[in-house]
Amino acid sequence: MAQFAIVLNEITKSYGEHLDLGPVSLALPVGQFTALVGPSGSGKTTLLKIINRLVPPDAGQIEIQGQNATTTADHLLRRQIGYVFQEIGLFPHMTVAENIAITPKLLGWPADKISARVANLLGLVDLPAELAARFPAQLSGGQRQRVGVARALAAQPQILLMDEPFGALDPATRQALGRDVRGLHDQLGLTTVMVTHDMTEAILLADQIIVLKDGKILAKGTPSALAGSSIVEVAAMMDGPRRQAEQLRVKLGASS
Ligand code: ADP
Ligand code: MG
Repeated sequence: MAQFAIVLNEITKSYGEHLDLGPVSLALPVGQFTALVGPSGSGKTTLLKIINRLVPPDAGQIEIQGQNATTTADHLLRRQIGYVFQEIGLFPHMTVAENIAITPKLLGWPADKISARVANLLGLVDLPAELAARFPAQLSGGQRQRVGVARALAAQPQILLMDEPFGALDPATRQALGRDVRGLHDQLGLTTVMVTHDMTEAILLADQIIVLKDGKILAKGTPSALAGSSIVEVAAMMDGPRRQAEQLRVKLGASS
């Protein structure tokens, strides 16, 4: 078995004046949960899409599970990598079950195997079985995101890519989903890359944090290593949640 699930070697991508990504080199060990953070427009989504070959890089090599991903057939790559999109991306005219079944269907699974898998996935993401027949508009935001995660996991990928999966959710739902996704990651032995804006989420959920800025990796390491970073900007970013917690304590303490 490959030691690294995802290897990027000198990847570059340019969108003219908008983005000059890279060169980015990375090696993400099998089983690691990585949080990808950085300001809007720093290239997080582009990098995630390059890993899944939704966006072709201008140069560089990608290895997925020890195999050169540029020569892997599309359907094999899709089976290895589950992707949760930034804007949910459930098809509104399809039921929950149909949305979840998209990849298995593309892969030509028989109908009985697909329906068993859909039932199994609903359980896995903690959704009641009767939601299968509903349409996305008939779900709460949190439920829709759970369906997005179930859909990404449908073909039993080893890798899960998530682009700001909890962005539009209220804090309590967000925390519950974050914990559940980390639980699934551990339970299924996934390698996960999650883009997030929320430093608390990144620190609490991830084994490693990668900070992207202007298309370059500014820093990477464990949350505690980055908290002690000699790059002032990184240390300040990592200290944000603690500063906020202290401000809250002062404010709430003072008013009681
Ligand atoms: P992030 O996810 O960190 O916010 P993105 O990867 O979405 O960043 O985008 C980085 C920059 O690249 C942005 O300025 C965006 O406008 C630009 N960009 C993204 N996709 C395209 C595209 N297909 N064509 C031109 N510019 C793009
Ligand atoms: Mg983005």
